[in-house]
Amino acid sequence: MGNRDTSSETLHAVLRSAERPSWPQEERMIAFLEHKYGQLVTLDWVEDPALRDGFLLKVGLDTYDWSVEGRLRQFKDAMDRLEHGEQEEDIIPLIRETVRAWKPRVAAEEMGQVLTVGDGIATVSGLSGAMYGEILIFSGGIRGMIQDLRREEVGCILFGDDAEIEAGSPVRRTGRTAGVPVGEGFLGRVVDALGAPIDGGGEIRAESYRPVERPAPGILDRQPVNQPMETGLLAIDSMFPIGRGQRELIIGDRQTGKTAIALDTMLNQKGKDVICIYVAIGQKASSVAQLVETLRRRGAMDYTIVVSASASDAAPLQYIAPYAGCALAEYFMEQGRDVLIVYDDLSKHAVAYRALSLLLGRSPGREAYPGDVFYLHSRLLERAAHLSEEKGGGSITALPIVETQAGDVSAYIPTNIISITDGQIFLESELFFAGQRPAVNVGLSVSRVGGAAQTKAMKSAAGAIRLDLAQYREMEVFTQFSSDLDETTRRQLTYGQGLMQLLRQPQYHPMAQHEQVITLICAMAHLLQDVPPAQVPACNRALLERIRVQAAELCRDIDRSGRLEPADRERILAIARDFLSEWRPSGSVKQHAQQ
Ligand code: ATP
Ligand code: MG
Repeated sequence: MGNRDTSSETLHAVLRSAERPSWPQEERMIAFLEHKYGQLVTLDWVEDPALRDGFLLKVGLDTYDWSVEGRLRQFKDAMDRLEHGEQEEDIIPLIRETVRAWKPRVAAEEMGQVLTVGDGIATVSGLSGAMYGEILIFSGGIRGMIQDLRREEVGCILFGDDAEIEAGSPVRRTGRTAGVPVGEGFLGRVVDALGAPIDGGGEIRAESYRPVERPAPGILDRQPVNQPMETGLLAIDSMFPIGRGQRELIIGDRQTGKTAIALDTMLNQKGKDVICIYVAIGQKASSVAQLVETLRRRGAMDYTIVVSASASDAAPLQYIAPYAGCALAEYFMEQGRDVLIVYDDLSKHAVAYRALSLLLGRSPGREAYPGDVFYLHSRLLERAAHLSEEKGGGSITALPIVETQAGDVSAYIPTNIISITDGQIFLESELFFAGQRPAVNVGLSVSRVGGAAQTKAMKSAAGAIRLDLAQYREMEVFTQFSSDLDETTRRQLTYGQGLMQLLRQPQYHPMAQHEQVITLICAMAHLLQDVPPAQVPACNRALLERIRVQAAELCRDIDRSGRLEPADRERILAIARDFLSEWRPSGSVKQHAQQ
């Protein structure tokens, strides 16, 4: 032993255990075996749920049976000693002693029996010591999670096909709650609700394993929201600014551009050192694939993780997906990073939970949802936070999405989530179909904490835009039937129409901060007053281009510092006035005038 044999034969080893050992553990095991047998060793792992707390190792003709966790630790220590050059002789007696002392150690209360199974739910008897949320292992290695504790039995949701499970088949406790693997390697990947890759990109190397459910950070571990999370959308950044650590709801009927806002916000994080996590719940797999493709094409997948539990996945997976996404987000937040997480959408999440609860026999409440559906979402959204500097200063910003029916925000799930979040972006079908996209309803949207995070430049530029728009809407209603309007009213109406035009923004075209600031400064100074509303967007684009050419330094400065001196404002206005004095609506003599 000791010296490596020169023979080229490799020895094949098979390791059977309930959980896959970590890669460093595997490596150490291979190193140990190679050292012992003097041959190259290949190691294969076979999942064997029956081997709780232990493993079975077959190397050539030898078999090692190791069954108690404590022995494993001794083994590891012995190997550590070995690594430090000590003799390996002392490990042989240890193996012998361990094998001799080995006894099957499955206590009676750790094994149970399936009573009933169906629709992704199983009831199990004989697990008197089981805890709520504990993971159970069924035959075929299928995992389930305890969701219901009763005196004689437990109700369990299944994360896999229940076809192989039948009444009477054995069930084993794990003593652990549900968790997901986490790590840097997840960036750029698409995973299912349990963290397994589903993008065909091979295995993901996890750095650790985190419980999916965890208490939210306490008050003392947090600090106020004070840094902007820019969406790149003028309608949002100017009036409903979002800060890092905030929870802002995106709410609206189907097909009103909810996902588009979240997607644009993710695209806008490019180069801003923010990690994005998109959790798709109950969507068509094809929509998710399309979104991933868009992210990839626009270079946003590098800093993004997609967690997908699609409509075809079992309800338990849809139920657990947002918590799994949040566990991943927390892993990064605790390293001091800023994370943006999108839950698309929580209406479907609530529906999946309702289905589970009804199958588990819980009594239905309002709209047939179980009584704890509020808690379901509050314990998820409470985990968004801006951590204190002592805790590393990381953050999770959450953008939950909720779908309404015919604009009804007073339904059960919308009112719940509105009360949990720090504000909402309310999208309206009517605006959307009128071409006003993003279809933000300015009157019903609000952001409660983001104002503190807005940069000085944005705050001073945005001024009273909300008020101006509110006045415009009111005036629009009152004047829609009158034909003869006085000059002041007419001017106010065109001003308002111009503002509404400026807030239109095509998809995938996030605006940089300086573009937003300049647009707002010029608009709020009524400089675009004489431009026909329909021409406002084109005129503004040309104006931005002019300022970028003539004041490139200033534009960079606004983006970098977020500040705007009075002199800068004057300079912008001067260039804009100069530009507008020459500008003519297209179709007229504009081109000639500019030359
Ligand atoms: P669903 O309820 O089906 O999830 P949704 O509310 O998430 O829909 P999206 O899928 O984001 O809506 O958008 C609906 C359609 O509108 C898409 O085809 C999208 O490309 C388009 N759209 C969204 N925002 C804009 C925009 N600002 N400009 C132009 N088109 C847009
Ligand atoms: Mg959508």
